[in-house]
Amino acid sequence: MIGLAHAGWRGVSGNIVGKMVSKINSEFACNPGDLMAAIGPGIRQCHFEVKEDVLNNFFDFPKQIATRNGRTYIALAGILKKQLSASGVLPNNIVDSDECTYCLGEKYFSYRRDKTDPIEAMLAYIGLESRDL
Ligand SMILES: [Zn+2]
Repeated sequence: MIGLAHAGWRGVSGNIVGKMVSKINSEFACNPGDLMAAIGPGIRQCHFEVKEDVLNNFFDFPKQIATRNGRTYIALAGILKKQLSASGVLPNNIVDSDECTYCLGEKYFSYRRDKTDPIEAMLAYIGLESRDL
């Protein structure tokens, strides 16, 4: 089986990856230790500046919070890795694209960077290759 979840800061705060692993376990009887997880492109700590309203959701992850020049930044991908590990996914089975959508303007849209109106969007899809084709 294969699955895909979008995780903005609200999804990360709500532990969407832990819920996904739990659902996979209950629906497909998969051992979390057998799962592979990949973290795709997203805004990274270099550009994910937050105010107190967002920061208040992440005090359980102090090592993923950084302060520079009086501003606060959160590493959502780092939190996802912690949540995946806590769900039983083995650290060696977690890969990270390490791509910041804000930094990579030629490759990705970032509303935080571009502030476009109307808003642009990104699309992600995932699938299993059929060997019968
Ligand atoms: Zn960046």
